[in-house]
Amino acid sequence: MEDVASRFLSRAIPGVQALRPYNPGKPLEALEREYGVRDAIKLASNENPLGPSPRALEVINGELPQLARYPDDSGYRLKDKLAQRHGVEPAQVVLGCGSSNILELVVRSFAGPGEPVVFSEFAFAMYPIITCAVGARPVQVPARDYGHDLAAMAAAVTADTKVVFIANPNNPTGTWVEAQALRRFLEAVPPQVIVVVDEAYFEYAIDNDRGIDYPDSSRWLGEFPNLVVTRTFSKAYALAGLRVGYGLCHPAVADLLNRVRAPFNVNALAMTAALAAVDDDAHLREGVVVNRVGLKQLDQGCRELGLEPIPSLANFICMPVADAAAANEALLRAGVIVRPRPSPGMDDFLRVSVGTEAENRRFLATMAGLRGQG
Ligand SMILES: *Cc1c(COP(=O)(O)O)cnc(C)c1O
Repeated sequence: MEDVASRFLSRAIPGVQALRPYNPGKPLEALEREYGVRDAIKLASNENPLGPSPRALEVINGELPQLARYPDDSGYRLKDKLAQRHGVEPAQVVLGCGSSNILELVVRSFAGPGEPVVFSEFAFAMYPIITCAVGARPVQVPARDYGHDLAAMAAAVTADTKVVFIANPNNPTGTWVEAQALRRFLEAVPPQVIVVVDEAYFEYAIDNDRGIDYPDSSRWLGEFPNLVVTRTFSKAYALAGLRVGYGLCHPAVADLLNRVRAPFNVNALAMTAALAAVDDDAHLREGVVVNRVGLKQLDQGCRELGLEPIPSLANFICMPVADAAAANEALLRAGVIVRPRPSPGMDDFLRVSVGTEAENRRFLATMAGLRGQG
């Protein structure tokens, strides 16, 4: 007897048949319910432990009486503000329901069935999902030291390649590419191939005090009309729950993305809050400093336990652990949610988001206890 699941599975497009859904991590409430723990902490989704700017929360309240109305589809005020900040024209800004919406718009606008989309092994999990969802062909380039191998990626790009994704820094590994290497890559790629530089962790990465030449690739938009730079309000700006991000690109590319974009894809509260958050530099700085200190705390603490985290430029750290499944289970029982198996092929790794000083300490203490048990 044919069951309903296989009836529809066989009718889905081949790319979708092979897909595994994105793993969003265990919600706090689910952990507390299933494990009977209280005061659980979540270090699993690279969220900002300080929470949003108080100014953003205030303007959201003011916006509530207008909720019967559709938002401004043109996103006029937010685009104008972002354009000023980045020194580009408003026509070069595309707003998205999270920056993952922009990544998806790029693939849907450019990559048809069977057409190549290039990204790295261990890169952001959404790249293969959005590629396969439209039947485009994923071209996964082996990583080098867990990071993007730009020379190998350039070699994998052909005149037919439609889109290339570069996550800088990358999630889940925290690895990055420096300015000179990224520029060389952009120069090597044919000018008709769209290159997306995904800078979801830009605000953390640019702040490094380690002498790393982390590039703000938006300054190259004038030279490379095929460049799309994506940013988000979900990470350093602490507005993940509202879903707002944006892309910066040539106006001709923006025009195409806007044709595919669903109307009103950014909700009214998200736009208002983002506008206020952009202006609250003090709050942003505070979060960035908490992260810089917390990243060192986690990195050093892990090394003292004999672990070897991958050096990270983001707000999380990723490390191999002898028995990652057992470690994850012990962490859950202690009320600490991290991300096990953060990428296919990284089965024995944990990814841990930087929390507050006390949250980081709790993660380290649980890991230390684990080692004590042998
Ligand atoms: C979190 C993340 C994003 C975007 O998330 P949104 O909430 O959709 O803005 C994009 N790329 C990477 C690499 C990320 O880690």
